[in-house]
Amino acid sequence: MLRILISGMVLFTMTNMIQAADQVVADVVLGIHGGIGVDKKEMTPELDKEVRAGLKSALEAGHAKLKAGGSSLDAVEAAIRVMEDLPVFNAGKGAVFTNAGTNELDASIMEGKTKKAGAMAGVMTVKNPISGARAVMEKSKHVLLIGKGADSFAKQQGLEIVDPSYFATEPRRKAIEEIWKREEEAKKKRSDAESLQPELPKKKSEYGTVGAVSLDGMGNLAAGTSTGGMTNKMAGRVGDSPIIGAGTYADNDAAAISCTGHGEFFIRYAVSHEIVSQMKYKGLSGAAASDDVINKQLKNAGGEGAAIVLDRAGKFVTAYNSEGLYRGCITKDGTVQIKIYEE
Ligand code: ASP
Repeated sequence: MLRILISGMVLFTMTNMIQAADQVVADVVLGIHGGIGVDKKEMTPELDKEVRAGLKSALEAGHAKLKAGGSSLDAVEAAIRVMEDLPVFNAGKGAVFTNAGTNELDASIMEGKTKKAGAMAGVMTVKNPISGARAVMEKSKHVLLIGKGADSFAKQQGLEIVDPSYFATEPRRKAIEEIWKREEEAKKKRSDAESLQPELPKKKSEYGTVGAVSLDGMGNLAAGTSTGGMTNKMAGRVGDSPIIGAGTYADNDAAAISCTGHGEFFIRYAVSHEIVSQMKYKGLSGAAASDDVINKQLKNAGGEGAAIVLDRAGKFVTAYNSEGLYRGCITKDGTVQIKIYEE
C-alpha cells in the first residue's frame, strides 16, 4: 500500500514537473512566442483565431527570409516585425500603457556567432523597435540606447517613425483605466507609502511580449524580443526584454533564447544567460536547462513567465510556468506547429 502511495506521489511530482514544457521539436529553423497569453477562462474563439493567425504569419515571414538565403537575424527581425504590427500582441502597435498613460517600448536582438547585440528601451516613436535594436547593433558603437536618444537615432537611421498615439489601442486603454479605477478606490483605504506602489498585472492579458529564435543554414543562431512591458509599469521602467542575458541571449555554442513574463524576475535571475550557462557548463539539454530555470528557480521565487529555446542542432523547446504560452515553430521544410495551452 505504502509502495503504491509513494510511486503515485513520484508520478504526480514528475507529471507536475514536465507539465509546463513541450516535447522537443527537431529540425526547427524558427521558433516564436507571443507572450504568456490569457487564462483559459478568458480565451474566446475569436482571440484564439487571431493569435494563431498572427503567429502563423510571423513564422511564414521569418521562414521566407531563410528560404531566400537570409540569416537567422533576418528571420528573427522579420517574424518580430509582423507581431509588432499586430495589435493582438503587446509589442509595437497594441503595446500596454504605463502608469502615466504612455506606451514605452523595449526590444533587443542578438547574434550567436559574434555575440553582437543591440537594444532599445523606452522608445515612443519607433514603429518597429526590433529594427531599432538591430540598427543599434549594426550601426552604432553601443548595445543599448534609451528614450529620446534611441528615438532620434532610429530616425537618423531612416527607420519608420510614428506619432506616439500610433501604439495606443482601445482594449489596452480600457485595461489601464480599469487598473487606475481600482487603484483610486484602494488608495482611500491605504497608507500613503503603500499607495506609491503601482498595481502590477493581475490578468495575463496584461502581458504579451513577442520573441523569436532562429538557426540559419550557416549554423548561426539569433534571438530577439520586443514588448510594451507590463501594464501600469512606472513611466521609465525598463523590463527584461531589452536586457541582454535577461530577456534575450544567443550563443552559437549552446542556444538562442527569448523570454516573456514578469521582467523583474527575469533580470534578477539573468534567465536567458542562465539557461545558456547550464547548457554550456553543466552539459544540460535546452529542455532540462529551461525547465530548471523557469519551472524551478523562477517558479519558487514567484516569477511567472516562459522561455523559448532553440539549440545549435535545431531542437526547439519551450518552458512556461504559466497556464499557457502563445508559441509556434517552423521546420526547415516549412512544417508549422502552433500552440497556446498544453495540447
Ligand atoms: N517581460 C516583459 C516585461 O517585463 C513583459 C512580458 O513579457 O509580457 O517588460
